[in-house]
Amino acid sequence: MKTINIAIDGPAGAGKSSVAREVSSELGFIYVDTGALYRTVALYACDNDIKSEKELIEALDDINIELNFISGTQRIMLNDEDVTDDIRTPEISMGASRVSAIPEVRKYLFDLQKKIARENDVIMDGRDIGTVVLPDADLKIFLTASVDERASRRYIELKEKSECPSYEEIREDIIKRDYNDSHRAVAPLRKADDAYVVDTTYMGFHEVCAEIISVIKTKLEIDD
Ligand code: C5P
Repeated sequence: MKTINIAIDGPAGAGKSSVAREVSSELGFIYVDTGALYRTVALYACDNDIKSEKELIEALDDINIELNFISGTQRIMLNDEDVTDDIRTPEISMGASRVSAIPEVRKYLFDLQKKIARENDVIMDGRDIGTVVLPDADLKIFLTASVDERASRRYIELKEKSECPSYEEIREDIIKRDYNDSHRAVAPLRKADDAYVVDTTYMGFHEVCAEIISVIKTKLEIDD
């Protein structure tokens, strides 16, 4: 049976993951956070002191990544160890942006993403889902917001944690990641031509979710 695939792409901090998680749970889909895959490769490189691109490519055979879904919530396993919480640091964010520019890494993670989408009704978020991973998705959404708004949301989120970078550092990281992600040669961050754009700069979380749920229901002809 054909599964339903919805792609959500956009720059760092646009709110993709919180929105996708909420909308998936509302509609009973599985939410797949593909950024976590790149973060996990970056964590492996960091933990194993891998410095060069060549070394990382050679190590890919030793990296086994699995996604488990517990009540629709994604847990990520790296060589049988749950690393879901370890990949959410600013250092790993920048590392993920670096490893994601390596074509071999993207190829390695591509099959895993395709398989999950083939087997489940998914909302998958990332940078290249609508353009490369699921070009035939039933619906593509491009979620964006101004740099200042994205930095301030990230700052509020990280402030809860003990070691919080300054607002300026977060803003600089976002600008750097936006640049890296949209200028790399393979699968750069780009809006798919047929994507529905939601600019969330002046929108609240619930407003964004409501708009996306409404677009999905209209597109998939789901009754309220
Ligand atoms: O979405 P998140 O911020 O967790 O992604 C971390 C990094 O992984 C991004 O900055 C990007 O470089 C990379 N990524 C990617 N393609 C995806 C998802 C994430 O290149 N589909």
